[in-house]
Amino acid sequence: MALCYASSIVHTVHGHFCYLRGHNLNQPHESDWDLEQSAELYGLERWGNDYFGLSAEGMVTAKTLNSSVALMDIVDGMTERDMKMPVLLRIENILDAQIYRLNTAFANAIEKVNYEGRYRGVYPIKVNQQAQVVEEIARFGARFSHGLEVGSKPEMIAALAMLEEPGSLIICNGYKDQEFIDLGLQAVKLGFKCFFVIETTTELPIIIERSRVLGIKPLIGVRAKMNTQVSGHWNTTSGDRSVFGLTATQLIEVVDRLKQEDMLDCLQLLHCHLGSQIPSIQEIRSGVIEACRYYTDLMKEGASLNHIDLGGGLAVDYTGARCASEQSRNYTLDEYCEDVVETLKQTLDEQNIAHPTIVTESGRATVAYSSILLFNILDTTHFEPVSLPGVSTNEPNQLKNMRAIIEYLTADRVQECYNDAHFYRHEIRELFKRGATDLRTRSVAENLFLDIMHRIISLMATLERIPPDLANLKESLADIYYGNFSLFQSLPDIWAIGQLFPIMPIHRLNERPDRQAVIADITCDCDGKIDRFIGDPEPTNTLPLHKLIEGEEYYLGVFLVGAYQETLGDLHNLFGDTNVVSVRLGNEGGFEFVKEIHGDSIADVLSYVEYNPKEMQVRYRNTAERAVREGRITARERQQMINTFNTSMQGYTYYEKES
Ligand SMILES: *Cc1c(COP(=O)(O)O)cnc(C)c1O
Repeated sequence: MALCYASSIVHTVHGHFCYLRGHNLNQPHESDWDLEQSAELYGLERWGNDYFGLSAEGMVTAKTLNSSVALMDIVDGMTERDMKMPVLLRIENILDAQIYRLNTAFANAIEKVNYEGRYRGVYPIKVNQQAQVVEEIARFGARFSHGLEVGSKPEMIAALAMLEEPGSLIICNGYKDQEFIDLGLQAVKLGFKCFFVIETTTELPIIIERSRVLGIKPLIGVRAKMNTQVSGHWNTTSGDRSVFGLTATQLIEVVDRLKQEDMLDCLQLLHCHLGSQIPSIQEIRSGVIEACRYYTDLMKEGASLNHIDLGGGLAVDYTGARCASEQSRNYTLDEYCEDVVETLKQTLDEQNIAHPTIVTESGRATVAYSSILLFNILDTTHFEPVSLPGVSTNEPNQLKNMRAIIEYLTADRVQECYNDAHFYRHEIRELFKRGATDLRTRSVAENLFLDIMHRIISLMATLERIPPDLANLKESLADIYYGNFSLFQSLPDIWAIGQLFPIMPIHRLNERPDRQAVIADITCDCDGKIDRFIGDPEPTNTLPLHKLIEGEEYYLGVFLVGAYQETLGDLHNLFGDTNVVSVRLGNEGGFEFVKEIHGDSIADVLSYVEYNPKEMQVRYRNTAERAVREGRITARERQQMINTFNTSMQGYTYYEKES
């Protein structure tokens, strides 16, 4: 309650301030803002998958069945533990819940349509390889025999060490050399259901040979090249030109070779992966039908198939739009499972083929929800007039003409006034360039210009048709909020592929967010910005945010970042890994910090690019010592400088506020 009270005071002050300003681009302030409006504005219920809510105090909460904790409480806990922003927050219960939901949804679908096989999920390590994540999936997933999918030797090693449940599946994709194959064969001997999925015909002879040498029968799968074209970002995984999978001819070659070696009984799995983030259920269905055709004919060829692995592709609805567009999906988890199971049953029943174990390799949908990137805002830039001094005696005519615009500015003359303001501002800039007017006059002109633009924006709200020239005016005057994070390190897909993630403040949600902003990171790179946000229904170019309060932190959260973001990130400007905190929500509303990892220190990132921190310290000390010798600094000053240098070397790479 105390908090509500405090913010409403600020509100009044803020409202008053806006009123004085008169013409900013934001709505006049109203005090009747409530939580539901925040929930609607930021779309929490559309994308949150029931994991996030709002508290009466205006804070975002993380929710599980019996518990709900404000993210701000977790932030406070981090501050007490000296965990600085930015922080990647993982909520283990959400990860567990996603595994539970996936396995339960398949179990329900199987029961509903009387499917005679079962479901076995595997988690593809590449989607988030962090030990904390894989470990938790292995631990919680054991009750469902949830396995792992690996695409390289390091991932294989991780899987072998993490999985304890012997019946669990390990699906080996990717190129496999002898060492990789030996690891897999030994895993079979240990009791794991470790499948080699053959993606190129060159792997088969090595598998056959190593199996002879080690005396262990392999479990073999084949990856079929899919013709079903899917939409979305990742569509090149499918279709004729896909680099993955065996063609019909190669499949026949594999079958013949295995037959020759008397090993056709080892071929027990068919693998089909259509791509990631498949937005449309129709495409998934048609992929399953194609997979069934391969399955049926391989059975007729004499293979002993008993697993059908449909790969990844289960999408996350990042925008909450619930439609078949790139960053969304037109189906629910239950529909996905039912459609897959039902299509398999119908198609295979027609051919009288026994129902295989269904395997899926859902990565994105498993891990996306459980991670949130939290950061604080360091500063803002507003594009608004700061002061409009009265007319002075010797103003140039251009400035007088600019002032006059305000007199004839009406809704039906916005385009004309817009043109005139640009013209006179240009004239004054030219005068300034030639030395014909001074810096103060130019400053007045720039402020007048902004004032006119904001008046135009207010008038535009009443227009039926916005002149095309003015279409982006509002965005061009949006605030810039500077966030304490690196896009390149923590949200690489925003930069690389224009990915959208839900972004919102995690507190003050019972106040009207009356600024429109874009977000810049601290890399000083013009690409290091976020200027596209989820919207309802279309994405928007600005995000509604609150005005900063002097002396108070303002925290934003980027949600659904658990998949694909952490290890793709790079060291742009040498900003390193962020701090990471894993929490587990308790049953009665509390929470517990279960794991924490301090992010890279400056010494860490420097050594990644082959600097030697010890040697650097010696060099800096020598430079300082020379200055002492030459009488430019004292020995005491030298020591101070060396201490600052060495402390900084051990510190965090991000912006640290002195506490
Ligand atoms: C990347 C990948 C996955 C994961 O896909 P999601 O869409 O994230 O579930 C699964 N299988 C294979 C073979 C992959 O390459």
